[in-house]
Amino acid sequence: MKVKVIGAGLAGAEAALYLANRGVKVLLYDIKPNAFTPAHKSEKFAELVCSNSLKSNDVFGNAAGLLKEELRLLGSITMEAAEYAKVPAGGALAVNREEFSAYITDKIAANPNIEFISEEIKKVPTDGFTVIATGPLTTAPLSESIGKLAGSLYFYDASAPIVAADSIDMDSAFIADRYNKGDGDHINCPMNKDEYEAFYAALISAQRATMHEFEKSDVFEGCMPVEVMAARGKDTLRFGPLKPAGLDDPKTGRWAYATLQLRKEDKAGTMYNMVGFQTNLKWGEQKRVFSMIPALKNAEFLRYGVMHRNTFINSPKALNPDFSFKKYPNVFVAGQLSGVEGYVESAGAGLLTAIYAERKLKGEREVLISENTVLGALARYITTENKNFQPMNANFGILPPLSVRDKKERKRLMAERSLAAVREFISEIN
Ligand SMILES: Cc1cc2nc3c(=O)[nH]c(=O)nc-3n(C[C@H](O)[C@H](O)[C@H](O)COP(=O)(O)OP(=O)(O)OC[C@H]3O[C@@H](n4cnc5c(N)ncnc54)[C@H](O)[C@@H]3O)c2cc1C
Repeated sequence: MKVKVIGAGLAGAEAALYLANRGVKVLLYDIKPNAFTPAHKSEKFAELVCSNSLKSNDVFGNAAGLLKEELRLLGSITMEAAEYAKVPAGGALAVNREEFSAYITDKIAANPNIEFISEEIKKVPTDGFTVIATGPLTTAPLSESIGKLAGSLYFYDASAPIVAADSIDMDSAFIADRYNKGDGDHINCPMNKDEYEAFYAALISAQRATMHEFEKSDVFEGCMPVEVMAARGKDTLRFGPLKPAGLDDPKTGRWAYATLQLRKEDKAGTMYNMVGFQTNLKWGEQKRVFSMIPALKNAEFLRYGVMHRNTFINSPKALNPDFSFKKYPNVFVAGQLSGVEGYVESAGAGLLTAIYAERKLKGEREVLISENTVLGALARYITTENKNFQPMNANFGILPPLSVRDKKERKRLMAERSLAAVREFISEIN
């Protein structure tokens, strides 16, 4: 049987080459080079549409670096190509984008098990094994078809930042739900008048990220960035995401002048989401301005807020833990469409999907990668029930916690635990 892989981007290229190298015949589709999405320009596959950086290369201190090492162990073509095309970038892994894509394109062209077809797929084929990896700019007809299978489809990200629970200054914060309605799932970050005014002034003058032309029309339609809301008037936020009403500060017994709520992002309570703080500020500016909130003065930002064009499904509802549709267990969703965010995350999700798909195709028992790995934790995150699901990137907050006080040592131990789990996974699947 031939497996159809739709989309020859980062996830699709990984999936196609993994399957083909294991003897599976692959039909690989992409609209390129006959047509392009608004961001893709190159005729080559696995195109990096924006930055040439694949982020940190630090295996034992940064989750993005750890994810890369996991992918190297798993034999990722993205990592192989990055090694080939790398350019000096300090602690980050940056590449020459043309050389990177050319390397992967050549591997695909030379693989006798891959047949490439340049075609826009408009409807998800559900009759055989299919991997859909058409990414954040999936064309409209196919988006509609995927939306029908998934039950819903989102067209843009409007994510608020997520901070690490252990980086919140609890001397300046308190746990409470508004009017005591809830189960203590919120941490509240109060501000007095002076603190609010300083924060407000910084927020409205902070630098915003530039948007691509094709994003401008649809990104803001559903969700207003906090800095745009703030610019409407000095007190607007105090009646919106910084509303203090119903939140008694135990230190004063009163409502503060303004209060930011943080909501638990995961069951373990290791990550907290800044409620209502979807933002389009540059990442450095988010750190500078949001750290002015006293309880966030030392906050570690696990995911920054983003507002951009994206296409993704509600994976927690639609997908099985192996990235296949609950309704169509032979149809898999890989890459950014599945709700991971970032080049390496998308490639990793493509590789993992292919591993799972191949086992299913060959009738082998299901083996899921451990959630102690960044890749496994991402997979678990996007396929676990979540009322406020938003795409997720690699970070230590999604991994099961380790009770080690020293942060550096904790990350190192988490990385060792992860790499051991990857090795175990590899021996199980082979
Ligand atoms: C403008 C923009 C900038 C980004 N910048 C960064 C960044 O700097 N750093 C970062 O880490 N992440 C970035 N991302 C996010 C994301 O990591 C990348 O988009 C990544 O390439 C996603 O991988 P993917 O394989 O899921 O999709 P893609 O790499 O986009 O691959 C999808 C492929 O599917 C094809 N396709 C689409 N529709 C169809 C169809 N109907 N039929 C057949 N083929 C189709 C496309 O031509 C494309 O080749 C950016 C995203 C966008 C949209």
